[in-house]
Amino acid sequence: MAEATRKLLIATTNPKKCREMGEILKAANLNLELVTLEAFPNAPEVDETGETFMENAHLKALAGVRHTGLTVISDDGGLCIDALDGQPGVKSHRFLGENTSFVEKMTRIFEMMETVTEERRTCRFQCAVVIATAEGQTFECMGVCEGRVGYEMRGQYGFGYDPLFVLPDGRHMAELTPEEKHTLSHRGKALACAVKVLQQLFP
Ligand code: IMP
Repeated sequence: MAEATRKLLIATTNPKKCREMGEILKAANLNLELVTLEAFPNAPEVDETGETFMENAHLKALAGVRHTGLTVISDDGGLCIDALDGQPGVKSHRFLGENTSFVEKMTRIFEMMETVTEERRTCRFQCAVVIATAEGQTFECMGVCEGRVGYEMRGQYGFGYDPLFVLPDGRHMAELTPEEKHTLSHRGKALACAVKVLQQLFP
C-alpha cells in the first residue's frame, strides 16, 4: 500500500486516552503513521448519544472518516459498577457533570457505596473499539477488565477512575505503570484485537 494511505487517525479528544492508544499501537509495529485529532482542529465534536459503548465508538469513528477520509480507530468506554446498576457506564465522562473533577466523582461513588459489602463491590472497565475505513468497512473489538470498587483512591498513574479500581491482586489500577496497565486493561485487550484487524487492512 502507498505510504500516503498508511495513515490511521486516532479519533479521541481525551489526551490521556489518546496517549494510551498511541503507546499500544506503536508497540505493535504496524508501520502506520498515527495521526490524532490535533491535526484536524476543525473536526466536529461528536455527541455521545449512543446507549452503549459500541454505539458511541461507531459515532466517533464514522464522524472521523467523514471529516478526514482516513482509516479511523475510535473507542468509547467506562466503568460499570454492579451495585449502582451499571453506573456510571456510558455516562462515565459526564457523571455528576463534565466539569466535576475525578476526585469528586470518585468521592461521591465511595459515599454511594458506603454500605455495600466487599463481595457486592464488583465492577468492570469496558472498552469498545471501532475501526472504520473510507471504503465503508467497519470492525468492532471489545475489551473488559474485571475488578472491585475500593475504599480509597490509590496510585499516581493512569487517569479517570483508575485510582478507585482494585484488581484481583489487590493493586489499584492507578498503581500500575503504563506498560503494566496495557497488558491487562480493557483498552489493552480491545486494542490487541484491533491490531489483528489493522494487520489485515495494512499488510
Ligand atoms: P470517553 O470514552 O472519552 O467518552 O470517556 C470515557 C470515560 O470513562 C473517561 O472519561 C473516564 O472517565 C472513563 N474511563 C475510560 N477508560 C478509563 C480507564 O482506562 N481508566 C479510568 N477511567 C476510564
